[in-house]
Amino acid sequence: MISKQVSNFEGLVISVSQYGEDSAIVSFATDSGLVPLLARGIYKPKSQLKPLLIVGNLLKIDYKHTEKGLYIASSLLVIFDASEAMSNYQESVFLLLLSELSMNLYKYGDSYPYKEVSTLISSLLNKGDCLSTTLLLLGTFYRSLGINENVNSCIGCGKKEDIVAYSLQEGGFLCSKCLEGYKNVEPCSTLELYVLKFSFMPINQVYLSKTVPQKEGLKILNGLLNNLVDYFDLHPIKTLPVFISALTN
Ligand SMILES: [Zn+2]
Repeated sequence: MISKQVSNFEGLVISVSQYGEDSAIVSFATDSGLVPLLARGIYKPKSQLKPLLIVGNLLKIDYKHTEKGLYIASSLLVIFDASEAMSNYQESVFLLLLSELSMNLYKYGDSYPYKEVSTLISSLLNKGDCLSTTLLLLGTFYRSLGINENVNSCIGCGKKEDIVAYSLQEGGFLCSKCLEGYKNVEPCSTLELYVLKFSFMPINQVYLSKTVPQKEGLKILNGLLNNLVDYFDLHPIKTLPVFISALTN
């Protein structure tokens, strides 16, 4: 039995997989968490649902909710169109990375920070810096997944001065005295500490307009991603090498 009630929600397209001959299951992030949305006939030439095929699109969807927990899209309104990213290599690879990482980190039913992520996408498409945006994305994921990194004070003694290193595994900054207790942690540069702290800043105009230095940015990006892969025991992120080469060429 299908319930006849039509409702609507706002959300972000995270991933699309073809379903049957001309339909798709879209992973759609909403206030009710990440949900599977069935888009019937979406690959037919005249389908009005086509904006659901673009990862990064922010949409308002009318849907029917079946008793089996499936959402069926009936019509939609485009709030933010991310399709222009397809004409820019870095931006399109960013969306590939976002999609792969999201589907690795979040399951259906999990809450997903779609408003922050949507703000990051629109900022990137508005001439934002790709590496800086990706660092803010990772910081947003850490927050939403409840992984706390202390980037304000030493995790050993709480001191704010004399910070000389960090360990993502241990949970954040280390002062020179506490660093002595961590044999496998190397001291790092002030710029690296700055970039790490930047990654966890709130998503607002002040931070969205900043550009991090590339060398330190790439090192922190790799560190934050590898730490997620280890923490959740994920497969290596396939789009990462493509993404890094898009950033550096
Ligand atoms: Zn300390």
